[in-house]
Amino acid sequence: KFRLRYAPSPTGFLHIGNTRTALMNYLFAKHYNGDFIVRIEDTDLERNVEGAIESQFENLNWLGIIDDESFINPGDAKYGKYMQSQKFGRYEELANDLIMQNKAYRCFCTTEELEKDYEDQVARGIVATKYSGKCAILSKEEIDNNLKLNKDFSIKFLVPKTTLNIKDFIKGDITFDSKELGDFVILKSNKIATYNFAVVVDDYDMQITHVLRGEEHISNTPRQILIYKAFGWVTPEFGHMSLIIDSTGKKLSKRSGNALFFIEQYKNQGYLPEAMFNYISLLGWSPVGEKELLSKTELISMFDDKRFSKSPSTFDMTKMKWINSQYMKTLTEEEYLKFTKKYVDQTRFNIASKSETWLNQVLLLFKKELEFAEQINNHLDIFFNDVKISAETLAVLNAIENNDVIVKEFEKQINNLSEWTVENIKELIKAVSEATSKKGKDLFMPIRIVSSHSEQGPSLADVIYLLGKEKVLANIVETK
Ligand code: GLU
Repeated sequence: KFRLRYAPSPTGFLHIGNTRTALMNYLFAKHYNGDFIVRIEDTDLERNVEGAIESQFENLNWLGIIDDESFINPGDAKYGKYMQSQKFGRYEELANDLIMQNKAYRCFCTTEELEKDYEDQVARGIVATKYSGKCAILSKEEIDNNLKLNKDFSIKFLVPKTTLNIKDFIKGDITFDSKELGDFVILKSNKIATYNFAVVVDDYDMQITHVLRGEEHISNTPRQILIYKAFGWVTPEFGHMSLIIDSTGKKLSKRSGNALFFIEQYKNQGYLPEAMFNYISLLGWSPVGEKELLSKTELISMFDDKRFSKSPSTFDMTKMKWINSQYMKTLTEEEYLKFTKKYVDQTRFNIASKSETWLNQVLLLFKKELEFAEQINNHLDIFFNDVKISAETLAVLNAIENNDVIVKEFEKQINNLSEWTVENIKELIKAVSEATSKKGKDLFMPIRIVSSHSEQGPSLADVIYLLGKEKVLANIVETK
């Protein structure tokens, strides 16, 4: 059974980059009826941010990326704990095992001594400096003496001389010569495991079959594989996904101009989780065929681990909005209303003063237009507030030939209209057309401007109907 994991460090909130990692691991696992695991990598205690773990789970759940196992919902005890800070004892024990097997050693060098170690190498003309490994050759007496003196030590991994042939299921074959690596710390002097060590122990404990992550981790992979080999453990398959970049070609980040970075920001602006799931799945991966609008179920069944792209993918905010607008169109009226109402800015629009039916009709006018729900607020002013006509709009009105004749006729007919229905308003507009011999834009534009003080909007008869007779007449008077 395939087992994949998403392993966030709780150093920040869920963003597009780590969401893509979580989502692709989820699709991979679900395509093969495997397990998707969320593990918290919180060994770097100082960098942990309060609320980050909650943000991860809350937003993943909102997106529909549901874990089979996590610290909230643990699997079999044999897989161990799902939070690294609960496994410090385990890492220490295994680091000591490696010492016993002469595959790791205690390094008693102080920070100053380490600096000197590097300086000495530079002095000897060694370019790519790394730890010289001098503590690896301490005698038993020296070690015992240091321990007796209670000297601080870290545990370093003794890098063996070897060539690694890594088969990355995205990047292809990578050959790596271990002489590029210096012996590296696996347990710090405070007894806390480093990332490279903890990640291997956890992936082994949790029986992870595929490690799918961002390419920023490629350089860690040789170290991790060496640790697997030292223990005699089978290595999982590795795949490193290419970068997500913004429109300027830089790695997508919170400084990426118009592209929002955190999932929370999308949620707050009224994006639909299904649309985000869809778009994020297409970052650095694509299914067979041309179809771009794909549900979670379709994506799970179409997932193919051979279709990751080797080159960076651009996060395209325009495309994200387009996909979201497509999903908004497919909502039922009821779903749309429930969703959109949450985003109406009640400090600007006093919805409590209006009837539910009227409000629903107004909101529905924009169902096909919104890219995300918060945009509804760009359309409501004319319905709730007293919007003065702008000088530009007035100029547009005045530029239309005989606009005064049309407006006069329209006002007269509105005044005389007995029953206020959309049908009657449509008939009325036709009657104005006949009386003035105007058609098309020359007819609609002046009517729209005087009734709503705006040059744009949805169906004219609907707008007039929902504004109400009183408001339309008042707007006409104000325009004069
Ligand atoms: N904790 C690492 C990160 O947040 C992920 C490590 C991994 O996937 O191996 O980048």
